[in-house]
Amino acid sequence: MITIQGKGVSAGVAKGPLYFLRRPNTRIEKQTVEDTGAEKRRLAAAQTESVRQLEELAEKCRDEAEDAAVLFETHAMFVEDEDFVACIEEQLEEEACNAEYAVEQAGEQFAVMLAAMDDPYMQARAADIKDVARRIINNLTGAVSGGFDTDEPVILCADDLAPSETLQLDKSKILGFVTKKGSNNSHTAILARTMGIPAVCAAGDALQEGYTGRLCYIDGETGELIIDPDPISLAALTEKLGKQAERKQLLETMKGQKDITLDGREIMLYCNIGSLEDVSAVQENDGQGIGLFRSEFLYLGAKTYPTEEEQFLAYRAVAAAMQGKRVIIRTLDIGADKQVDYFRMEKEVNPALGMRAIRICLNRPEVFRTQLRALYRASAYGKVAIMFPMITSVWEVRECKRACHRVMAELEKEGVPFDRSTELGIMIETPASVLVADALAEEVDFFSVGTNDLIQYTLACDRQSNDLGKFYDPHHPAVLRALKIAADAAHRAGKWIGICGELAADIGLLPTFLAIGIDELSVTPSAVLPLRAELRRSIAKTCTLDMLKC
Ligand code: PEP
Ligand code: MG
Repeated sequence: MITIQGKGVSAGVAKGPLYFLRRPNTRIEKQTVEDTGAEKRRLAAAQTESVRQLEELAEKCRDEAEDAAVLFETHAMFVEDEDFVACIEEQLEEEACNAEYAVEQAGEQFAVMLAAMDDPYMQARAADIKDVARRIINNLTGAVSGGFDTDEPVILCADDLAPSETLQLDKSKILGFVTKKGSNNSHTAILARTMGIPAVCAAGDALQEGYTGRLCYIDGETGELIIDPDPISLAALTEKLGKQAERKQLLETMKGQKDITLDGREIMLYCNIGSLEDVSAVQENDGQGIGLFRSEFLYLGAKTYPTEEEQFLAYRAVAAAMQGKRVIIRTLDIGADKQVDYFRMEKEVNPALGMRAIRICLNRPEVFRTQLRALYRASAYGKVAIMFPMITSVWEVRECKRACHRVMAELEKEGVPFDRSTELGIMIETPASVLVADALAEEVDFFSVGTNDLIQYTLACDRQSNDLGKFYDPHHPAVLRALKIAADAAHRAGKWIGICGELAADIGLLPTFLAIGIDELSVTPSAVLPLRAELRRSIAKTCTLDMLKC
């Protein structure tokens, strides 16, 4: 029995023969050429063909897997990226070499540059640029990609899997993925999660090609990989697989069901997302809306401020994909643990109490205006709601609303369509916002409680610290009472209240949330069906503040 510890990136367990993906020998020889012009023409033709293939692939999967379509579209953009093309042409001219070699070199250079970035999202894009370079090279040489040829379902292993490779694999033949490299942020991990296939990455060199054909077991949660399990492990693993299958079947029956308690209280079960790519998981898990779109990921993944157009396209895509279901987009929430270099923020001794989230937006009206314009423009394409983070005072909300009105007036003047009735909400994540919740509720359409921050500020416990142990208690009555105070204030004003922090997925707290009167829970997509199952066997009680005690 061989045990390898990797990183679990897509939950679930799988058992089957291991298959190591072999690729054709693709070493590119450098050749000196006399006519670089001819190479440039070959390159242009290969680029055109690559774009055509990628657009065709995007079109093919548009209905079934929107995120896959977006990935292919992004690759098509990479093919024609100005910097990338300039780098290839520079190689061609300076080295008087063949186009294949120039593309390979440029792809390597870009991949190394991306892999060296601090931002894990950008690091993970290295695999994309290599994938694009390989496609152009294949179109130059006439080679076909592939190397996956099996009749039976397997656990597919590879050094690393290019995203487009992952998408083109016959899914009915794949029980799980294992890669030597990769990260939680790699597209392959994202796609595996979206496809609901267990996956382990970063298995390292302990994973060898010679293991092909041997019985293998993976756990996409713990990151464990067992080859040739002994009888005792095998029995334990088989039991785990059985339980997983049973649970999956049970949860499947929850799809299409109402989010309602036995006594008829309806709750909105929404999802948290960070990008368009996560929308397919929302749909797959039958989320009834998006309760938190963390828009800052657009900023964190960029080298400079995302433009209005870039943001508009991203918000519009999510709004359109959700087909009229509510999509709550939170305005920029950076600062504290989410630092963005190009914002050039002053270093702070205590950034969690410093210049973050709405404070930055109110201090930098141009940044705020750009995002609000993009949001309102997107509101014409779906049911968009706008949510402001880290509110402590009524004047902040009024300033946000004034900024919204200015943007609406601009768009109206320009004749740009938008939805004037776009809902506005705030995050309740500071004790101050709880204590003035009655006044805040008069100003907005809804509240959403950010328990990750509310717990940190209420209990004076740094959410980043791993050492606070029992002092960091998400079930502390102070937290639950804060929820109750905010819920009562919202309801008195005729507004609804949700929770979008991690606590929302805490199934054990569901009866308490119901008793407090929470109307919406926004959770990671895979938590929707288990919550629905629990909700549908619950009875909604009520409670008063003094019932939430130590
Ligand atoms: C929260 O604070 O609970 C929340 C949802 O926001 P974030 O985790 O992005 O700060
Ligand atoms: Mg927060």
